Amino acid sequence: MHGVEGDYWACQILVNFAPSYGIIISALVSSWKETLTETTIIKNGVVITLNERNQIYQDGSVLIEDNRIVDVGPSDNISRGKRVDNTIDARGKAVLPGFVNLHAHSGLIRGTAEDLPLWEWLERHVDPKHKVLRAKDAYAASSLCYTEMIKAGITTVLDMYRFMHRCADAAEEVGIRAVLAPYVADKPEYDYFEKQNDNIELIRKRHGSANGRIHVWMGLEHLVYCSEEAYHRAREYADKFNVGIHTHGEESKEMAAKLEKEYGLSPIEVLHKRRILTPKTVLAHCVWVTPREIELLAKAGTSVAHCPVSNMKLASGVAPILDYLRQGVNVGLGTDGVKENNRLDMIQEMKIAGLLQKVTHLDAAALPANTLLRMATINGAKALGLGEEIGSLERGKRADIIILNLTSPHMSPALTGEFFNIISNIVYAAIPSDVETVLVDGKIVMQKRKVLTVDEEEVVARHKAAAEELLERRKPFVPKE
Ligand SMILES: [Zn+2]
Repeated sequence: MHGVEGDYWACQILVNFAPSYGIIISALVSSWKETLTETTIIKNGVVITLNERNQIYQDGSVLIEDNRIVDVGPSDNISRGKRVDNTIDARGKAVLPGFVNLHAHSGLIRGTAEDLPLWEWLERHVDPKHKVLRAKDAYAASSLCYTEMIKAGITTVLDMYRFMHRCADAAEEVGIRAVLAPYVADKPEYDYFEKQNDNIELIRKRHGSANGRIHVWMGLEHLVYCSEEAYHRAREYADKFNVGIHTHGEESKEMAAKLEKEYGLSPIEVLHKRRILTPKTVLAHCVWVTPREIELLAKAGTSVAHCPVSNMKLASGVAPILDYLRQGVNVGLGTDGVKENNRLDMIQEMKIAGLLQKVTHLDAAALPANTLLRMATINGAKALGLGEEIGSLERGKRADIIILNLTSPHMSPALTGEFFNIISNIVYAAIPSDVETVLVDGKIVMQKRKVLTVDEEEVVARHKAAAEELLERRKPFVPKE
């Protein structure tokens, strides 16, 4: 394509020098450029835009040129007289932006570390695993997790894992949009984690790769794992490369109290003092926080990745989501990893997030379905600094789009018009297998449930083999009961 671009600019220069010929040449080049642009229309679906006005087109279409959305609206108005290369019929289906998974860990150990509270679970299962993890395991884990996510309509993930150059390889292959924030730890007892220099090298090599689909942020595991110096360097390099910072806020009540005792400040106050809180910072969980900490997050414009399934399964507690929203803190949703969830499914996450707040506050009106859907899409995009690029279906945005079947028995009745219930059905009734087609950056990654980019059976077989080997290698490092 570079040659074509070059010729185009050469013609533009000619326009300046020879106006009359220029007009003719320019018209020829425009039509030439048009024939080189791939145009796709998704038509006759229920188009849920998630734009600022929450516009919905009950019989709507989305027009895509290459990797960008160029028009969204009622089917009658779109694409009239336009050449279209590909047509996707979305009759009986919903068309919406792909989900943004705001906190995840690629992983191998699903269902093997169960029924333990957070810190015991970390010590007994997770940290010993990290001691024996290898680069090829990271590839096996992330290929599987990204494939699983695509199959659940997740088009963007903020992933914190290890050996993330291999996660970048997997993201390139699978076709997901990924923000990679390595598990960096530097306290002496955690020296087997990623080094900050690896993180910096990853930014240099992979940030902005795959046509801008891959981003790299500065990652920090947690206050318990990282020295003060690591936070200062994270800030320094995040500023230098203009990237964000991702780390864990408090999940467990005991740890929040322990840290407060140790530092004389609550954990988010510590992060604030270390200049970690900015609009391009995402803190996972933040379950146990004081009003002062909420205020700090709101003032800094820092986003929270709420992971309700993980918080419930590890018995961590209930994050004060209603307080966050009331105070203007941006909240997205995350699945966390396969070891703590055990499913990478944002539809489930929306439902559980809603149920958890409703029952906790004994308020059925807490977190309406549309708010949950925004948390799972546009709020996540904003948290990643990608609010202008993805997260809603709007002209000029990148085409990260999912098409979801509305005709299964568990989705019936799917009603448009006066009794419109499609958003409630997506949040409370849908399952990942309702997602039929997924586009990322204008490219069809899954069509009619078939992932087109990788061999699914091979991905699963490689993951299983890597998990079995890892569990064997981990044995000597597991503390005795
Ligand atoms: Zn986590």
